[in-house]
Amino acid sequence: MTSMSAAGAERLIKLAEEASELVQACMKVLHHGYDGKYDNGETNIAAIEREIGDVRAIIMMMVEGQDVNVENISAHEQVKRIRVLKFTYFQPGSELKLKTDQ
Ligand SMILES: [Mg+2]
Repeated sequence: MTSMSAAGAERLIKLAEEASELVQACMKVLHHGYDGKYDNGETNIAAIEREIGDVRAIIMMMVEGQDVNVENISAHEQVKRIRVLKFTYFQPGSELKLKTDQ
């Protein structure tokens, strides 16, 4: 097993922190809509964009720090883009269909 450096552990902490902030921003949109605003005037959709950027920044730091392999990430991304269609209703190509006979 490869030992974890302090820098790698710190990046994992930041990834978990930023991922949780993204979840929080998603929940805010689901609760109050895209146009709802934070106390500082930022819209909920702007907050999601900011948090996606934060997560992506940490991911790129992990790639640069060789914690993770970008080719492996890209391969998983391609698999997910196909697999997610099995579990969604409203995306182009979604396989799930709503029941309309109730
Ligand atoms: Mg953040």
